[in-house]
Amino acid sequence: MDSQLHVYNSLSGKKEPFTPITPGYVGMYVCGPTVYSNVHLGNCRTFISFDIVYRYLRYLDYKVRYVRNITDAGHLENDEDVGEDRIAKKARLEKIEPMEVVQRYTVDFHNTLALLNNLPPSIEPTATGHIIEQIEIIKKILDAGFAYEVNGSVYFDVLRFNKDHQYGKLSGRNVEDLIHNTRSLEGQSDKKNPQDFALWKKAEPQHIMRWPAPWSDGFPGWHLECTAMSTKYLGEQFDIHGGGMDLKFPHHECEIAQAEATTKKSPVNYWIHANMLTLNGKKMAKSTGNNILPNEIFTGDNTLFSKSYAPSIVRFFILQAHYRSILDISEKALAASEKGYHRLMDAYQLLDRLPIGETGDFDQQQWLKLCHQAMNDDFNTPVLIAHLFDAAKYINSVKNGLQSMDAKQKKSLTKYLNAFLFDVLGLELPTQEKGSDGKLEQTIDLLLNLREEARLNKDFDLSDNIRDRLQDIGVQLKDTPEGTAYTIE
Ligand SMILES: [Zn+2]
Repeated sequence: MDSQLHVYNSLSGKKEPFTPITPGYVGMYVCGPTVYSNVHLGNCRTFISFDIVYRYLRYLDYKVRYVRNITDAGHLENDEDVGEDRIAKKARLEKIEPMEVVQRYTVDFHNTLALLNNLPPSIEPTATGHIIEQIEIIKKILDAGFAYEVNGSVYFDVLRFNKDHQYGKLSGRNVEDLIHNTRSLEGQSDKKNPQDFALWKKAEPQHIMRWPAPWSDGFPGWHLECTAMSTKYLGEQFDIHGGGMDLKFPHHECEIAQAEATTKKSPVNYWIHANMLTLNGKKMAKSTGNNILPNEIFTGDNTLFSKSYAPSIVRFFILQAHYRSILDISEKALAASEKGYHRLMDAYQLLDRLPIGETGDFDQQQWLKLCHQAMNDDFNTPVLIAHLFDAAKYINSVKNGLQSMDAKQKKSLTKYLNAFLFDVLGLELPTQEKGSDGKLEQTIDLLLNLREEARLNKDFDLSDNIRDRLQDIGVQLKDTPEGTAYTIE
C-alpha cells in the first residue's frame, strides 16, 4: 500500500496518521441504539459509517474487535438527568414489560441493519447485563473524590474534576460557559451544580427498572454504561470510539471524565463522529412530520417518495457523501443514486463477458493507488466511488470496442472491484440479478457461440438471423477484433 490511513480525530480537530496501540489489532467502540422505538434513518447513516470503518480496517488486515452496545436501561428523556427512562415510558404506554420493548426494537434494529448489509459487531453488550461493572466504576469515582452521594443518588462533580482535568475538551466547551448556559432545575434535582451528571439514580417507587446498589435501589446513569462496557471489552485505553455527532456532548464528554477520574488516562486515541442526515433540506423530526423510517423507504409505504428504493440503493446513496458532511435525503437524490448504482453494477457484471484483447489500455496501478488514497484519507467513500466509476467507464469502452483489456488486467480488475464494491463498501448486486444466477448471460453466450460457429461454416444467413432476432428482443451485438460484445436494453 502506497499511502497510510489517516483518520480525522474529533479530539484534536485534525486528520492524524492511524497507529493502533497494539500493532495489527484495533479496538473500536461505537455507541449503539437506545431500543425504545424503530431505528431511524439518521442512526442507520451513523452505523453504516462505522461499518465502513470496520470493513476498511479489516481490508487493511487489522484484527478488529468492534464493540457496539444496546442501551436497554438508564437513558432518560432529556440530558439533564430528569424525566422518565425512555424504555420504561414506552412499556407503560403500551402496557407491556420493559424487556418486551427492548426485544421488539432490538430485533427491528438488527433486521434493518442486516438489510443495509452492515456486518454485526464482534460484541454487542447490553447496559442491563453490566450493572455490576457500572456499580464498581461508581465506587472508584467516589473513592477518587470526583463524585458525591445525595439522597441515594450519585452525581459526578464536574467542577471538582475540572480543577485538575479538562472537562469539555472534545466538544470545545469550557466549564465557565457551561455554568452560564446550563439552566438550573429548581427543586427537580439533588445536584450541587446543574452541569453535574448522574452516575446512579435512586428509583422512584413507580420506577420498575431497578437494581440494588450500596446507595439505593435504582439504576445507572446513561453515560456510565459506555465507560463500563468499553473498558471491560477493550481495556482502559483503546483505539477508536465512534458515534453520531449529537453524542459528542454531553455523552462522550462524560465518558472521558468518568474514565479519566478512575484511570487517570485518556481512554480513547481517536474519536470519530458521523454527521447528521436531513430530509428534504430539514431536520428530521416526528413532531413536524418530516420523518421517514428505513422500512418505509424499502417498501415504498410512505407519502414522501413516489416509489420504493432498495436497501442497497439507500446504502449507496449514503456512501456517496463523506461521513463528516451533512447529507440530505430526497427523492431526487435517491433516484440519482439508483441510476449510479445500476451503472456501476452493470459494468461489474459486464466485466466477466468482455472479450480478451492483446493490450491493457487502463493504468491499473495508478487507479488502485487512487482508490487506496481515497479510503486512506479518512474513509473518503465518495472519492473511492468516483474512481470506481472510472473503471466502469473503461469497461464500457472495452465493450464498445474503443479500448482493449488483456487477460491479466481483467483478472486483477475483477479482484479489486470485488474488494471495493462488496468487501469495503458492502454493496450487494441487484436482487433480481442474484435470483437469475446469471442464466440470461449464459444463454446469450450460448447463442453467440452458435453464431460464431455458423460464421465459421460460412452460413451467414443463420448468423445474421441470430443477430437480428437478438436485436428484436433488445440485445445489441457489437463485433470487435477481440470478439463479440453485447448490451441488453
Ligand atoms: Zn455511548
